[in-house]
Amino acid sequence: MTRVRDYEYYDVVLSLCSTCLRKVEGKLVFADGKVLMQKRCPRHGAETVLIADDVEYWRRAREAFLKPSEMPRRFQTPVRFGCPFDCGLCADHEQHACLSLIELTDHCNLTCPICYADSSPERQGFRPLAQIERMLDAVVEAEGEPDVVQLSGGEPTLHPDFFAVLAAARARPIRHLMINTNGLRIARDPEFIERLAEHRQGTEVYLQFDSFERAALEELRGADLRDVRRRAVEQLNEHGIATTLVVTVKRGANDHELGRIIDWALEQPAVRGVTFQPVQVAGRCDDFDPLRDRLTLTEVRRRILEQTDVFQPAEILPVPCHPDCIAMAYALKRAGTVLPLTGLIDPELLVSVGRDTIAYEGEHELREALFGALSLGNAASDLPVRLRDLLCCLPAVSTPDGLGYENLFRVIVLQFLDAHSFDVRSVKKACVQIVHPDDGRLIPLDTYNLFYRGDLEHTRLAELRAEVER
Ligand code: SF4
Ligand code: SF4
Ligand SMILES: [Zn+2]
Repeated sequence: MTRVRDYEYYDVVLSLCSTCLRKVEGKLVFADGKVLMQKRCPRHGAETVLIADDVEYWRRAREAFLKPSEMPRRFQTPVRFGCPFDCGLCADHEQHACLSLIELTDHCNLTCPICYADSSPERQGFRPLAQIERMLDAVVEAEGEPDVVQLSGGEPTLHPDFFAVLAAARARPIRHLMINTNGLRIARDPEFIERLAEHRQGTEVYLQFDSFERAALEELRGADLRDVRRRAVEQLNEHGIATTLVVTVKRGANDHELGRIIDWALEQPAVRGVTFQPVQVAGRCDDFDPLRDRLTLTEVRRRILEQTDVFQPAEILPVPCHPDCIAMAYALKRAGTVLPLTGLIDPELLVSVGRDTIAYEGEHELREALFGALSLGNAASDLPVRLRDLLCCLPAVSTPDGLGYENLFRVIVLQFLDAHSFDVRSVKKACVQIVHPDDGRLIPLDTYNLFYRGDLEHTRLAELRAEVER
């Protein structure tokens, strides 16, 4: 009698041991409708990690949503130790920075338990303007005209030279500038919002907005920020400052509120979309089981679909720059109505994208237009054009007149790789990159937090590199 495995074997994967961070080989397998990574470290044993809870979506992302990689203008480091030990970007990387982050400080007026930068009021020190300008120049040098640059932190609005930094960023050929903020200053400082409003053209606020509930906010942020959040959005509406709400999703804390947040966001005139970022329970928590407890992109996507009627499954699609880690959907907001793109696009056409058979004669153009629209790097000015291109590809769809950025609403699910889910194949496409404060290297956020933040490169990474050399 033949004996059969209780899973389907799909591929080999190159990952990391989540204990010692050495590179280890593993397998990707399908079991019970889930994608699992099985790997083994000779020193620390076997580990099984939940990668996705929707095999069909995950496979389609990986197999159909492919496009030729777009390169930066220049790479910054040679290939020497092998991925992910050469970041900067090295010549082996497969996607330029659709979004680059510049951290102005580690200082913050919150102490969120989930903060990956470990920011807090105790951490003092603001990067000097001259250093920040060098970081901005490094992005421009690598990218030419960077698509999206985010001023981040810590809390960037606390920087004493914040408006000088903003002016310096705006003086460079950055297509879309975002301010990554927890909203406290926006909610509480009328003078600040007035000054910010003077820069509203081409600047967007990327506003932390996790929950309507006290318990969830306390769990995620260590504070009841309900009033701060509402007040900040009121101010942004009043001053007409384009805003994206950013929701850090933690299982059991706020994963039941995703639909409610989208529905509420659609009613806010300033809000252009919601970005959902799953977080994993902190590594300190001893009983974390990567097989049971990980919150994956596919689960967040599924919960959005369960909790709101605005989007249909065929619409929340993988983003071809980094399809494993980013999903995106669009709706049009016009004159008080919300028109999900499902209403305009035959879902069959989207489902057929990347199929071998020619579904209809314009499939190639549709694919190009769709992939053009599905990008994290779409700046405010391009997005209406991209969507108009997409709509024009569709027979029997009339493009709405006067489509502008203020009419667009975008939902994004953005996940980062961690030591558990790490996949060398995938990380090479990481397009959210952070500027190294000392030398201006552009490093994927995923590897930055594992190997390059603060002293890690000289402690943790130096040893791993030395081992490779031996
Ligand atoms: S993640 Fe990219 S930049 Fe970093 S080592 Fe790998 S290929 Fe190079
Ligand atoms: S607001 Fe942001 S930077 Fe500040 S502690 Fe929280 S996560 Fe960290
Ligand atoms: Zn190990």
